[in-house]
Amino acid sequence: MPLYENQELKIYNSLSGEKEVFKPLTDGYVGMYVCGPTVYSNVHLGNCRTFISFDLVFRYLKHLGYKVRYVRNITDAGHLENDAETGEDRIAKKARIEEIEPMEVVQKYTVDFHTILQKFNNLPPSIEPTATGHIVEQIEIIKEIIDQGFGYEANGSVYFDVMKYNKTNHYGILSGRKLEDMIANTRELTAQSDKKNPQDFALWKKAEPQHIMRWPSPWSDGFPGWHLECTVMSSKYLGKEFDIHGGGMDLKFPHHECEIAQGQAANGKNPVNYWMHANMLTLNGKKMAKSTGNNILPSDLFSGNNDVLSKSYSPSIARFFMLQANYRSILDFSDEALTAAEKGFQKLMDAVALIPKLETSANSSINISEWKQKCYDAMNDDFNSPVLIANLFDAVKIINAVEAKKTNITPEDLTELENSLHAFIFDVLGLEAVSALENNQDSERLANVVELLIQLRAKARANRDFATGDKIRDGLAANGIQLKDGKEGTSFSL
Ligand code: AMP
Ligand code: ZN
Repeated sequence: MPLYENQELKIYNSLSGEKEVFKPLTDGYVGMYVCGPTVYSNVHLGNCRTFISFDLVFRYLKHLGYKVRYVRNITDAGHLENDAETGEDRIAKKARIEEIEPMEVVQKYTVDFHTILQKFNNLPPSIEPTATGHIVEQIEIIKEIIDQGFGYEANGSVYFDVMKYNKTNHYGILSGRKLEDMIANTRELTAQSDKKNPQDFALWKKAEPQHIMRWPSPWSDGFPGWHLECTVMSSKYLGKEFDIHGGGMDLKFPHHECEIAQGQAANGKNPVNYWMHANMLTLNGKKMAKSTGNNILPSDLFSGNNDVLSKSYSPSIARFFMLQANYRSILDFSDEALTAAEKGFQKLMDAVALIPKLETSANSSINISEWKQKCYDAMNDDFNSPVLIANLFDAVKIINAVEAKKTNITPEDLTELENSLHAFIFDVLGLEAVSALENNQDSERLANVVELLIQLRAKARANRDFATGDKIRDGLAANGIQLKDGKEGTSFSL
C-alpha cells in the first residue's frame, strides 16, 4: 500500500488562504507545474530558494508514493523588462549587450541554471518545455480566447479583455484584489496605447522593427505575452485542470492571476486546484533580485568570494539553511545564519555516521514509531521542513543517549531509526552525505594556497621577475583560477 494512503497531507492553498487536505484529480497521480526561470542572467540564491522549495514538494510527493509529473518551464522569450507590457525583451536586451544571438543567451543561462540546481541536489523536472518551442500552441490558444470573446486585436497586437472577463469571473481571485480598486488606482491610458483598459494584458505583441525575437501569426510578426506560455505548457502536459501550480510569491500578481483568467477564458475551467507560493530570500532585509543587484550568486557562495560571507559554504549547507525555514516565510541570508546551519548540519551528519557503531539491547526505552510519525506529521502539515528538522534533532539526542548508554534501543528499532533518518535527510530534504566540514576545509585550503601563490607572484614582480609572475598567473588560469589586479591588491575567483 502506498504511503499516501496512511498519511494525510495538507497544502496551504493560496487560492483559499487555508490549509486543505490534498486530493489529486486522479488517485495516485499528481500533476505539478512550477514557473521556471527567465534565462537572461545567472540564477541568484533567491531563485534557488524557490526551486529548492518546490524540489522539497516534488520529493515528498514522490516519497509518499505518488506518481508525479513535474513540469517546469524555461522562459526564453516574451518576458519584457520590469515585467511590463512594453519595452525590450530581457533576453534580446542581453543579446544586444553581449553581442551574441538571443539563443546563445538562452543556452548560456539555461546551462548555468541546470548546473547550479544540480549542485543543490535538486531533482530535474519530468518535462522542461520552453516558450519558443510552443509558439504554435500559444497562437492556437489566443485564437480560442478571441473566439470565446475574451480577447481583441488592436494594431497587430492581441489583448485580454479583463473588464469583460470580470463580468462573469473574478479577476483578482488569487491575489484578493477587486477590479474596481485596481481601476481606481490606475492612471489613464496613454494616447498611444492600443488597449481598451489599462488592466488588459497582452496575449500577442506586434514586434517593433528593432525587436529581433519575432514569429509570424495571424495578427502580425510578433511575440507572445509573458503570461501565456505557462497556460499553454501546463495545459499541454498536465491537462486543462491539474493539481498543483507553484512559483515565487512575487508571481502571484499579475502572472498567476492572468494564468487563471487565460485558462478559464480558453477552456471554461479553473485550471489549478492548489496554488502554492514560496516566499522570498532577502539580503539585508531586502528581496534578492537580479534587477537591483541585491543578490548573491551561488558560485560566490561556494567559493566564499563575496563581501557578505566570511568563508565559503557548500551547497548542502545552503540547502539545509533554506530548509530550516518554512517555504512560506521570508528568510534573510546572513553569515551568522549560515554558520549556525553548518554546525547543525554537521551534528546531524555525525549522528547518522554514529548509528552503525551503536550497541543495541533487548528492550527499547524509546518509541521510534511515534517519533517517525511526528516527522510525517511535520511534512504533512504543508511541508513544514523546520519542524521536521527539529524532529531529526530529537533523533540526534536519542542516538547520543544510546551511545552514552543512557537509553536502550533494540536492533529492530535502530534499523527503523536509521532507515527513517536516511529517508528524511537524503530522499525528502535532498541533503547530501558529503561531510560539510570536509568540503569547507577543501575550499579553504585551496584559497590559502592561491593566496600564497599571489604573494610569491607579487614578490617576483617586485624583483622584476615578470616571467615567474606570468607563469604563476597563467598556471592558475589554466586551472580555472583567475587573478585580478586592482588598487587594493590582487584578488581571485575560483
Ligand atoms: P525569474 O527568473 O525572475 O522569473 O525568477 C524565477 C523564480 O525565482 C520565480 O519563481 C521567482 O518568484 C523566484 N524568485 C525571484 N527572486 C526571489 C527571491 N529573492 N527569493 C525567492 N524566490 C525568488
Ligand atoms: Zn509562469
